[in-house]
Amino acid sequence: MIPSVLPTYNRAPLSFVKGEGSWLIEADGRRFLDLGAGIAVNALGHAHPALVAALTEQAGKLWHVSNLYRIPEQQALADRLVSETFADTVFFTNSGTESCELAVKMARKYWYEKGKPEKTDIVAFTGSFHGRSSAGIAAAGSEKMVKGFGPLLPGFVHVDWADHDGLKAAITDTTAAILIEPVQGEGGIRPLPDQCLKGLRALCDEHGILLILDEVQCGMGRTGKLFAHEWSGVTPDIMMVAKGIGGGFPLGAVLATENAASGMTAGTHGSTYGGNPLACAVGLAVMDHLADPDFLAGVRRRAALFRQRLEGLVATHAGVFDEVRGQGFMLGLKCRLPNTDVVAACYERELVTVPAGDNVVRLLPPLTLSEAEIAEAITRLDRAATSVELKAKAS
Ligand SMILES: *Cc1c(COP(=O)(O)O)cnc(C)c1O
Repeated sequence: MIPSVLPTYNRAPLSFVKGEGSWLIEADGRRFLDLGAGIAVNALGHAHPALVAALTEQAGKLWHVSNLYRIPEQQALADRLVSETFADTVFFTNSGTESCELAVKMARKYWYEKGKPEKTDIVAFTGSFHGRSSAGIAAAGSEKMVKGFGPLLPGFVHVDWADHDGLKAAITDTTAAILIEPVQGEGGIRPLPDQCLKGLRALCDEHGILLILDEVQCGMGRTGKLFAHEWSGVTPDIMMVAKGIGGGFPLGAVLATENAASGMTAGTHGSTYGGNPLACAVGLAVMDHLADPDFLAGVRRRAALFRQRLEGLVATHAGVFDEVRGQGFMLGLKCRLPNTDVVAACYERELVTVPAGDNVVRLLPPLTLSEAEIAEAITRLDRAATSVELKAKAS
């Protein structure tokens, strides 16, 4: 008999019933140190007092009104995002997938309005992840995600990560945009070198095409800058955001320059929930913390400490781990033994990590992770790695 919840997830046998900062409390009372943060969502940890206050205050006033009306909280959050980034304009969604949908629509509409309706192709990269909608799976193009779900949304061209010649060859008269994650998340924490992002920007400028960055996972302070592309000094035309922006409340956004957004006039796109008062009140409280330069400096400092300790861990357990990679608090442990064994061993030590592609264990803690919690995380990772080593030797 089919379970009452559609069985599309492989769930660990854990039920968390409460969260406090970097900690998750299981139904049986065990306290897990959370290095997953709901997959880079709980940027300020669990039950952050400022977010609880923003949510409950707004909940007592007004939860939802239609986008048929002006929404002051939405306006304030858009103003804030525009003032902190490259963007001139923002559309609010409820998820990363929805942000992908709009990013693709926006790029195509741009060329349509410019009198070049043939320019519809989006060049994307293997190993990427852009969500589970028809556009999202077509953009990622991985066999695993698209199999059985055809016909696929046409107009996506795939290039291997780091295949520079292939990328140049993929750009034709029908190319509308290049779509890329500055740091691949699901693909296994693969950061795009700054030089490559600069090269991509130059390539887009040379061909007059749009650069779309998917910062759903790597954005909102995760790498130690508000957005990951800031490390390279170049800016996109369109950017997808979600995950951390709501701190756990479902919220996403598409940020764009005035030029890139020029096709999106009244009636061309919409959402019932996107940018409702409740979501935006929380989003504003999240931004108050994440856009603070002192907060981001703290993230960089603590993340550097974490990384240094992880390098030590990898050296001690060279049979389990190959390397540490990533940036800020978006880190991956490339494993030599199956990553799922490491994740399972971490659960036994009351530590939450997240598996990713390329046999990587992802570490995406709340950005508030303290120095003491970093030390505790290393202790638990060390014990988990030892037990994985022992089991591998025994079998
Ligand atoms: C999670 C993710 C998405 C999809 O976001 P949802 O909120 O799950 O729809 C898209 N792109 C990237 C890079 C992601 O990590």
